[in-house]
Amino acid sequence: MILVSACLVGINCRFDGKSNLLPFLDEILATGKLIPVCPEQLGGLPTPRLPAEISGGTADEIIDHYLYKQTPHLCPARVINQAGKDVTLCFVRGARETLCLAQKVKAKAAILKARSPSCGYGAVYDGSFSRKTVLSNGITAELLAQNRIEVFTEEKLTPELLRQLAGC
Ligand code: SF4
Repeated sequence: MILVSACLVGINCRFDGKSNLLPFLDEILATGKLIPVCPEQLGGLPTPRLPAEISGGTADEIIDHYLYKQTPHLCPARVINQAGKDVTLCFVRGARETLCLAQKVKAKAAILKARSPSCGYGAVYDGSFSRKTVLSNGITAELLAQNRIEVFTEEKLTPELLRQLAGC
């Protein structure tokens, strides 16, 4: 099984109520081997919602303080939406629920949306809401990778790699 960001298969779960449909995923989706998931909706955020970005640190610091050490007050990093509201807890909850689903379906890989504060892998927006990125991961992507689930963004994915991951 492979988890996939729900917005990549055409679900309108993006912050602006739209999707990031990648039509070449449809064929494998129809086999039942792709499990669509939107961590931000699973974390309790509405759609549409204000965009949010990780600010002041990294996803691994957030996971460490919020999930493992239970010391959120000591965490330098936060997820802040465009109105300045701290939505870190929703992002952490969404990451935890996504990992739970991944483990239930024994997912070996996840195909996630690039640069998102939840799903981004390798690069995410830097907290300035200016489309600048930093070399880091989204919170869900980081938690999945820490749990030995191989993460790819759609930008690294080819139809051949997708078929290989799905065993087709
Ligand atoms: Fe949901 Fe991830 Fe897509 Fe954002 S990038 S809309 S969190 S699936």
